Amino acid sequence: MDLTFSAEERAFEQEVRDYIASSLTPEMKRATALTPSVFSDPDIGMAWQRALHKKGWGAPGWPVEHGGPDWTPAQRWIFEAECARAGVPNVNVMGVKMVGPVIIGFGSPEQQNFYLPRILSGEDYWCQGYSEPGSGSDLASLKTRAERQGNSYVVNGQKTWTTLGQYGEWIFCLVRTSNEGKPQTGISFLLIDMKSPGITVRPIKLLDGECEVNEVLFDNVEVPAENLVGEENKGWNYAKFLLAHERTNIADVNRAKRELERLKRIAKAEGVWEDMRFRDEIAKLEVDVIALEMMVLRVLSELAKTYEAGAGEWNLGALPPGNAEAQTKNIVAFRIPLSRVETKIKLSQNRELEDRQRVIARLEASDGQDAKATARWMKRVLPT
Ligand SMILES: Cc1cc2nc3c(=O)[nH]c(=O)nc-3n(C[C@H](O)[C@H](O)[C@H](O)COP(=O)(O)OP(=O)(O)OC[C@H]3O[C@@H](n4cnc5c(N)ncnc54)[C@H](O)[C@@H]3O)c2cc1C
Repeated sequence: MDLTFSAEERAFEQEVRDYIASSLTPEMKRATALTPSVFSDPDIGMAWQRALHKKGWGAPGWPVEHGGPDWTPAQRWIFEAECARAGVPNVNVMGVKMVGPVIIGFGSPEQQNFYLPRILSGEDYWCQGYSEPGSGSDLASLKTRAERQGNSYVVNGQKTWTTLGQYGEWIFCLVRTSNEGKPQTGISFLLIDMKSPGITVRPIKLLDGECEVNEVLFDNVEVPAENLVGEENKGWNYAKFLLAHERTNIADVNRAKRELERLKRIAKAEGVWEDMRFRDEIAKLEVDVIALEMMVLRVLSELAKTYEAGAGEWNLGALPPGNAEAQTKNIVAFRIPLSRVETKIKLSQNRELEDRQRVIARLEASDGQDAKATARWMKRVLPT
């Protein structure tokens, strides 16, 4: 396993650093620092997407013919690391990193020509319509139905947990087009314009009072049949392909490292650093993050070998059989301890924003026992 970077890669690192320094505005930086979620507000995220697109860096993972920069896996890693280090906004992940690769892999030339440039240039904001009430882990049991009528599909049903669906201009959905055979074989992948008549977006209020996720209801929504990606009833295969992309992205180790450092700074400034239990917990998280980084670098090293051998793609499918699945499972497993860091960081961020009192009052007023416990924790750990 080779984890060192060459002189060319170091030069590339400097180029990325310089471009970020010259194009990341103070407003973008401030808005990102104030975002309580892993997702940036769309206006900020899309402004950053446009800045990257101007440089030809709008979609690091895409092939050159669709506007990708033709980077090696190491360059991609460096780019992601520098972005995380500088605290850039998150671009529209559901567009660039999820539906984009599916359209590239399985979409028609017409779909590629229409949707991809709009994702690259930051024109369309996408959201993901997979989960349904009762179909989360058991996604293949999904019931939202798309019935073919002439040149259209008529969609009825409900999606849930749709991240930033209130801003979505387009949603990519898994829909049921057949009840024959195994549940997985009756699912199709549809691209739906969120302005279509019959779509209702209802916010779901979370513990912190934010409405980042939504329910999306479809009532006789007419979708042109040309918006079907690939073949009817093959959507499950495309969804699995998308998840492989999603999983490597969500490891997000560089962001976790930066935020862990930030958490330490806040803990020291607040005086809670002296609390041994708090320090123990941070140390455990630090070990988790280092282990995650090593694992991601190992995957990178494997990918670099397949890339150099001519495969030319940052693709988990290129790893030896069995290895890819084990690696992605491990990366996903590491999200769980990382979410503990995020929770603490979110709470600490509120201190920085000087609205901690407001958050505590809201949590205390809530009916949920978890919310009340969080309020107690905040009062104990973060002096008000
Ligand atoms: C912040 C957030 C944003 C999200 N954004 C989106 C989005 O944009 N689009 C989208 O489509 N989805 C989104 N999701 C949905 C997410 O992918 C689902 O939450 C996930 O698939 C799990 O489904 P569920 O919440 O219904 O949990 P469930 O499936 O009900 O699972 C609940 C618990 O039971 C366990 N469990 C389930 N089945 C079994 C079993 N057979 N054996 C043992 N244990 C089991 C699970 O591991 C889990 O701990 C989001 C979720 C969150 C939290």
